[in-house]
This record gives sequence, C-alpha cells and structure tokens, in this order.
Amino acid sequence: MSALDHYRILGVSPRSSLEEVRRRYRVLAMQYHPDRNPDDPEAAAYFRQVVEAFEAIQSAKTRKRPAPQNYRRPRFTDREGLFEEFFGISRASSPLQRSVGANFRYDLEIPFAGAIRGMVAEIRVDRPLDCQHCRGTGLAAGSGYQPCPDCQGRGRRFGGPGLLRYGPLCSRCGGRGKIVSRACQHCCGAGCQPVTREYRFRIPPGTEDGARLRINGEGGEGFQNGPPGNLEIVIHVAPHDFFTRVGNDIHCRIPVSFAEAALGGTIRIPTLEGYQTFHLPQGTQTGWVFRFPGVGANGDPHQPPGDQVNEVVVTTPQNLSPEQRALLEELARLERDQFGEAGYE
Ligand SMILES: [Zn+2]
Ligand SMILES: [Zn+2]
Repeated sequence: MSALDHYRILGVSPRSSLEEVRRRYRVLAMQYHPDRNPDDPEAAAYFRQVVEAFEAIQSAKTRKRPAPQNYRRPRFTDREGLFEEFFGISRASSPLQRSVGANFRYDLEIPFAGAIRGMVAEIRVDRPLDCQHCRGTGLAAGSGYQPCPDCQGRGRRFGGPGLLRYGPLCSRCGGRGKIVSRACQHCCGAGCQPVTREYRFRIPPGTEDGARLRINGEGGEGFQNGPPGNLEIVIHVAPHDFFTRVGNDIHCRIPVSFAEAALGGTIRIPTLEGYQTFHLPQGTQTGWVFRFPGVGANGDPHQPPGDQVNEVVVTTPQNLSPEQRALLEELARLERDQFGEAGYE
C-alpha cells in the first residue's frame, strides 16, 4: 500500500499536519470502532485500515522531523551551565572556597494518565561520587600530592599585588595548586567514579508538563567538604491521542453520527477510568459540551478536581449503502414537503 493510499483512507491531504491527520483519525476511529459497530464486519475491516493508515502516516511524519535529542530519552547532565541555571551563579567563580555541589538534572517522560492521577516513578542515575579507594583524593595508596609545576603551587596563572592577585585559574591543577604524584588506579586520579543509583518517588496527581521535582542531597558532592547539590527531575508529560489537558480539566471531542445526534441515545465515552455511558439528548448539535464532573486532574487537594469536558462533533455519513441512501432520500423528501423546495424562504 502506498503512502498516498494511507491519506486516501483517512480522507486527508498529504500536506496536512500530523495534528490534522490525528484529529481526522480520532473521528474515524471512534465512528468505526468495533465496540460501536458490533456484528459489522465492514466497519471492523475499515477500522483496521484506518488504524494502519494512521500509524503509517504518524511514523512517516515523525521520522522526517529532527528528533529533539534530550526529550524522548531521559538524559543526565551535570554541566556548569545547569549549575548556573539552578542557582544563577557559576561554580567556577570561586573554586577554591567551600562550595555546594552541582545540581543534577534528569529529564523524565511520563504518560498523560500518570500526570493526571499521580504515579510512582523509578529512575536510574549515574552519579559521579568520590572514589572510595582514594577517598576522592585521586592519590594512589601511599603517595601524596606535589606542588603544581605550572603555577608553583599558587593555583593561579600569575600572582602579585593588587588587581592581578587573582589571575586566571591554573588549568593543570584546576586551582588546587597541587597535583597527584601517583594516580589512584581505580579512578585514574580523577578522584571520582560513576555510581548508579536507583530512585523511587511519587509523582503527585495533577503534575503539569515542565514540573520539577527535587531529591535533596542527591546531586554532585560539594567542593572542600561543601554540602552536596540536589537531583532535579524535570517532568515531561507525553501527549495523549484523545485527551488534552486545560488546567485541571480534561478535554476531548466525541464524534457522534448524524442519526445518533438526531435521535438521541446511549453512547459510551472513554475516560481515564474506562468507558462511561452517556445519554445523548435528541437533537444534539456539533459544539454541544457535556461535562463529567470530578473526572479531571486533582492537583490541589484543597480545590475540587477538574472535569472531563466532552465536545460533540456530529459527523456526516459517507459511503452510504443503498439502503441508507434510500432512507436519507426519504428523509430529504419529507423535509422538502415540510419546508418547501428551497428550504430557506
Ligand atoms: Zn581513586
Ligand atoms: Zn597549577
């Protein structure tokens, strides 16, 4: 099946955006879902085609876009820039003083429902911790430091009276003024080794995209016995195919057939807790909104939870069977008899 066929099945232009394709797909998938068309093999076959076509278009369209590198895959960084981002200061500005460790950042993507209802997350983080063999000194057993030959132990590139006393940091010794004479073989003199830690924590209900959680003291180790930094977890909420979130409310569009809307009847509407039956009133119009109170997000325990806001979209029938066509023609004839030929006079 060609890519064009996929678009033809969904009835959308190949130039449509993924969002447009997705909107169309939702409408069709709801309309032809086997749950709503029991014992209708044609609907079931079409439903399968619709799903296949959408998945093919979706993967083709997302493949074309350059992937945002650190969004999908949780990534772990401890760069100076992040330290500045969190504290507004640079660790490099006063490296010789006792200072707090760097904050670590972990990007975590969670499902839409997990953000609404809350969830327990587990992550693994590689933290560089002080090497246990040399206690963070970087020294081989029985060896010591020696004065840095590049800065003669001053830690700065040049020293002197007045303004020049604080020259640029010595790059060889990192400002310490001393270097390791024989390196610890476990950490190669770096003084630290990556250690994988696992964290299990609760993501509270109603968490929003971009929210940050903090685990205190689980960042980088402090310098010169300074306190450790924190582990900051940045939450990314994955978009949902059917629901969108507006504050504490959950919005969705419910396609109903022309006949259902005109006659009214019982329909099933998906919620995050499963299907809920709903009595559609006779003469329902596109744009009518029905709320399921309290089914939305419950971010603040002192506030009532949000609602599910269901907006009705009446769909016009396509690909009529001869019998359906005959019935609609009969309906059109009755309307003409009632309102006259033009219908607008
Ligand atoms: Zn070591
Ligand atoms: Zn030096």
